[in-house]
Amino acid sequence: MNRSLVIGGGLVGSLIAIHLARRGHEVDIFERHPDFRIEADTKRPALNLTLCERGLRALGEVGLRERVEALAAPAHGRSIHGEDGFTAYQPYGAHGEAIHSIARSELNETLINLAEGLPGIAFHFGQKCTHLDLATPSARFEDVRTGAITEIKPDRIFGADGAYSTVRLHLQKLERFNYSQQYLSQGYKSLKIPARADGMPVLESGSLHVWPRGQRMLIGFPNRNASVSLSLLLPFDGAHSFASLTTADELRSFFHAWFPDVAELIPGLAEQFFARPPNSLLTVRCAPWSYEDKVLLVGDAAHAILPSYGQGANAGFDDCSVFVQCMDEYGDDWRSVFRAFEARRRPSMDYMADLCVEHFVELCELVADPNFLKRKELERRLNDLYPDLYQSLYTMVTFTTTPYIEAMRIEHRQRKFMDRLIADEGYDLDVESPRIKELLLRLSHEEIA
Ligand SMILES: Cc1cc2nc3c(=O)[nH]c(=O)nc-3n(C[C@H](O)[C@H](O)[C@H](O)COP(=O)(O)OP(=O)(O)OC[C@H]3O[C@@H](n4cnc5c(N)ncnc54)[C@H](O)[C@@H]3O)c2cc1C
Repeated sequence: MNRSLVIGGGLVGSLIAIHLARRGHEVDIFERHPDFRIEADTKRPALNLTLCERGLRALGEVGLRERVEALAAPAHGRSIHGEDGFTAYQPYGAHGEAIHSIARSELNETLINLAEGLPGIAFHFGQKCTHLDLATPSARFEDVRTGAITEIKPDRIFGADGAYSTVRLHLQKLERFNYSQQYLSQGYKSLKIPARADGMPVLESGSLHVWPRGQRMLIGFPNRNASVSLSLLLPFDGAHSFASLTTADELRSFFHAWFPDVAELIPGLAEQFFARPPNSLLTVRCAPWSYEDKVLLVGDAAHAILPSYGQGANAGFDDCSVFVQCMDEYGDDWRSVFRAFEARRRPSMDYMADLCVEHFVELCELVADPNFLKRKELERRLNDLYPDLYQSLYTMVTFTTTPYIEAMRIEHRQRKFMDRLIADEGYDLDVESPRIKELLLRLSHEEIA
């Protein structure tokens, strides 16, 4: 019997536990927070996520795709709310592409419910990991209510304890363990716009709503019940920041100045805003992700990325799919399983970490740059007209399961191609002309070669 210990009962911990149990492992999952299905979790921010093709495919491998899609609200495009009060709608594609917005808690609950029903899995809530002995391996937990200590000695440990991982902290003490973390100067708070009294949505449904304001941004995620979950991103310090907003009056003035069309849509704005401190956003890179054949990091614990591409959870679910492939290939040779997993996933996640930082700057600063917008529009038209010959990076990341690193290689060629095309012909070229198709055909042959 393989005895696996999963530390962290979040999205990735629950999914990897399901895979392990389905392969006959005895799995214990220790989660720091009490069971939020029984008592509301006031410590974690309420958050909506968007799932895309790679995350949904991974959920499909354990039979959850349809169930999760039924809980989620599809968004077929972005509604960009400009400072001038006008809204521009940008569809994600011409072929019905959509991302799926869902509350993180609802997604987590779906995964926990499935996991809990499987033979061999036991959840232990309210148990915080405080210490690890990597060599044994063993882990110590403190009951968050009683302070009682439990020690577990499994065959191997999976660190699925998120961006601030305790498991990773213990790996960091090893020689030649590489680690970097980079905080964003902005943080976020979650707010909510309820549905209208007649049950209809206040903001157009079927769309992700974005109010880009430089370093400040508001993002609205649709929900099935017609409400909208908002993430407000602001600098931590300085003018018009979280630190500067200390009273209800200041908050109201701020909203009327920066997001006037939303201010009146959020009931109890001040209560919602001041209920919790802002949360941080960070990028974490580390290596190696494993210790011998005993400990492995997965999900955010191995690779926390900024949410600018909406990929963290999708990538964590992708981890689980790749991990299963490695288990199938290497069987009980756990050292090889762990090494193969990292070799297949880390290059992609290192690239994604950079891309998300770059894309965050784009979202904050470049959406107001007319040339940037013209280029994006040109890419979108090429993507829509010739989906077999040209796929924008966003399309590859969001609507395909092409590994991120492969998407990057394709994008490098495409970027050079677009630079040349725009330099030669400007932005207003006739994308339907046979010559453009010919150029794209040549580009795709370069990719094959
Ligand atoms: C504002 C924001 C927006 C996002 N939007 C998206 C999006 O649109 N799409 C997307 O795919 N991703 C998105 N993400 C990222 C996504 O939330 C994460 O990538 C995902 O939750 C990672 O899952 P995980 O299981 O690895 O970690 P987590 O979800 O953080 O779960 C870790 C679990 O471990 C537990 N834990 C921590 N420490 C201990 C300990 N010492 N002992 C025991 N248990 C412990 C925690 O309580 C938690 O339950 C977003 C993130 C943020 C912050």
